[in-house]
Amino acid sequence: MRPFQYQRPSDASAAVATVAGTDGAMFLGGGTNLADLMKLGAAAPTLLVDVTGLPLDRIEPAAGGGLRIGSGVRNSDLAADGRVREEFPVLAQALLAGASGQLRNLATVGGNLLQRTRCLYFQDVTKPCNKRQPGTGCPARSGDHRSLAILGSSDHCVATHPSDMAVALAALGAVVHIEGPGGTRALDVTELYRLPGDEPHRDTVLRRGDLITAVEVPALGFAANSAYRKVRDRASFAFGVVSAAAALDVADGRVRDVRLALGAVAPMPWRARRAEQALRGQPATAESFRRAAETELEAARPLRDNGFKVTLARNLVVRVLSDLAGRHL
Ligand SMILES: Cc1cc2nc3c(=O)[nH]c(=O)nc-3n(C[C@H](O)[C@H](O)[C@H](O)COP(=O)(O)OP(=O)(O)OC[C@H]3O[C@@H](n4cnc5c(N)ncnc54)[C@H](O)[C@@H]3O)c2cc1C
Ligand code: SF4
Repeated sequence: MRPFQYQRPSDASAAVATVAGTDGAMFLGGGTNLADLMKLGAAAPTLLVDVTGLPLDRIEPAAGGGLRIGSGVRNSDLAADGRVREEFPVLAQALLAGASGQLRNLATVGGNLLQRTRCLYFQDVTKPCNKRQPGTGCPARSGDHRSLAILGSSDHCVATHPSDMAVALAALGAVVHIEGPGGTRALDVTELYRLPGDEPHRDTVLRRGDLITAVEVPALGFAANSAYRKVRDRASFAFGVVSAAAALDVADGRVRDVRLALGAVAPMPWRARRAEQALRGQPATAESFRRAAETELEAARPLRDNGFKVTLARNLVVRVLSDLAGRHL
């Protein structure tokens, strides 16, 4: 690991100014991703600005209803919060489906959103990788890509975003609050991320010095009827192969409203807006759910070894929505 400096500022504006004004400086949350990448040589910050001492660790009622979650809230605390469990069970379930108890105790909301891909080549500095080192190539396209993207990828990168929490937040229409050198702004969580195109090294639209301060989950009456399901190669402590976050509102046997997002299939949490649109007003049946999933997945462009994820994603959507509709297959 390369030598680096460490600072622990006590207010957000000092943290922002330091990272914005120092080449190679990065924010440090729980360090569960960044420290690993530093040990592997895939990240080499000159200065770590630890933001876990900032007063960003509260979960509060949001002004317009819903919850405002500080970016420093630990994943374990968020998953255990009574309001999250009751009003947004999909979020609590997604958090608990990720990593391990020890990691969740350290991991923060901000760091979870900005964790980097688990593509093997990205983490292996002996291999080329456009995301780690622009212009070097993408060995995953012809190599090991079984777990990589079927939606939203490009010729330059086929990596997936690994966060489970972000998938639930995408389904819930969460808003990310940012404080940067130019002031504050807010973005829908899906707008935080960008598709790789020909610049896969840029995962998000954030600029240097942009600090995530909070995530706001807006009130959503039917979010109490929500769930997260994750398919993985091992029953625990494993990243998703495909996951789905959903909330469903059924009246008189028909879908009155629905929220759906897919995980581990794209470079960002994938809000399935086409499927949502296709479902509103339809009978709440497995057949409708299957058709809606297929509508979303028409855009899928699987690679040689990951075509199975298209079928898996479709079946997972049918399963999670059927469970929420109370119609077990
Ligand atoms: C073995 C293992 C298994 C795992 N399994 C899963 C899994 O199944 N599902 C899952 O979702 N995750 C999984 N994870 C990943 C884990 O969830 C992340 O490492 C964690 O959420 C990152 O949070 P952190 O606070 O430690 O981030 P850090 O490592 O501290 O930071 C990550 C990135 O975010 C930036 N950053 C941190 N805070 C802020 C902020 N407030 N504003 C702007 N930038 C910020 C940092 O500069 C860095 O670039 C796993 C990790 C490990 C090691
Ligand atoms: S898929 Fe992306 S992260 Fe993986 S090797 Fe290709 S460019 Fe790198």
